[in-house]
Amino acid sequence: MIRGREQPVRPAPFRYLAPDSLEEALSLLCEYGEEAKILAGGQSLLPLMAFRLVRPAVLIDLRNIAELGRYRLEADRLTIGSMVTHRTIELDHRVTSRCDMLAEALDVLGHAAIRNVGTVGGSLAHADPTAEWLAVALALEARVMVTGPRGTRSVAAENFATGWMASCLAPDEILTEVRLDMPGPGTGSAFEEVARRHGDFAVVGAAAAVTVADEAIEGVRIALAGAASTPIRAPRAEALLAGSVPSAQDLEAAGEAAASETDPVADLHGSEDYKRQLARVLTRRAVARAYRRALARP
Ligand SMILES: Cc1cc2nc3c(=O)[nH]c(=O)nc-3n(C[C@H](O)[C@H](O)[C@H](O)COP(=O)(O)OP(=O)(O)OC[C@H]3O[C@@H](n4cnc5c(N)ncnc54)[C@H](O)[C@@H]3O)c2cc1C
Repeated sequence: MIRGREQPVRPAPFRYLAPDSLEEALSLLCEYGEEAKILAGGQSLLPLMAFRLVRPAVLIDLRNIAELGRYRLEADRLTIGSMVTHRTIELDHRVTSRCDMLAEALDVLGHAAIRNVGTVGGSLAHADPTAEWLAVALALEARVMVTGPRGTRSVAAENFATGWMASCLAPDEILTEVRLDMPGPGTGSAFEEVARRHGDFAVVGAAAAVTVADEAIEGVRIALAGAASTPIRAPRAEALLAGSVPSAQDLEAAGEAAASETDPVADLHGSEDYKRQLARVLTRRAVARAYRRALARP
């Protein structure tokens, strides 16, 4: 019985459709327009619907579209269909042994129960600025493939998130796959984050990929989650480190530069200053570990 101001925690009524092909899914999206929402793992969408923060009249479930549930590792290229779950990648040692950053990010992404159901494409499309996948995609300079009625386009990870929980996906487009290049010899990577409890979204996270030649940093990519309204790269910190055999002072300076590149949003998890401090420390730690790993992978 519902009493007083209590609200039912269940979604408003909706129609459920589960097309068998991408073409069919796209045509349903066109047919129902803004009334429809794509359903992937449902780990983010269904809670929003249960609280009636989102009320789609139609859910288009991608679960029957076989091609979206596949992934492949060919040479250095990892191509992940949007419906592949976090857990599938986490459990593939061929992948995680080649990319420490990805292994570490997946280890702290929610709990195993979430990772069993939540999908890579759903995480990217949801565009939460603290999501691990977006930061990893940025640091590995991934490309996101998007298909709609106007054809397929390849979006650089840095252009994918456009604002807080907003992406470049048009309402009639479907994210189909993400393409990442695995770090090669001479490159080490690492992921660091602080969350209030294990399995919670990060307050701030840092992903780093460092390439060395003769012990000096030849190239470095740093991406931060939770440090602005979208995940961001830290180009000033990257430029500071380029060419160095990084000393403790260099790493401090890079952390300082990364912190200065953030534009954090205060919330109940922390003030702007606290998040800047996390960006400073996590950048330093992630780069230091990635550098040590790069030296060990000639
Ligand atoms: C308790 C809990 C803890 C969590 N912790 C974390 C965490 O620490 N880090 C983290 O990153 N995530 C976390 N998540 C979220 C989880 O990773 C989700 O899997 C993810 O955010 C959404 O993936 P999904 O497959 O469940 O997508 P859904 O919830 O089904 O969809 C999410 C959104 O993306 C859209 N969408 C989905 N797929 C596509 C597609 N292929 N094309 C276009 N639009 C699409 C949907 O329409 C919807 O708007 C957590 C979730 C829960 C419930």
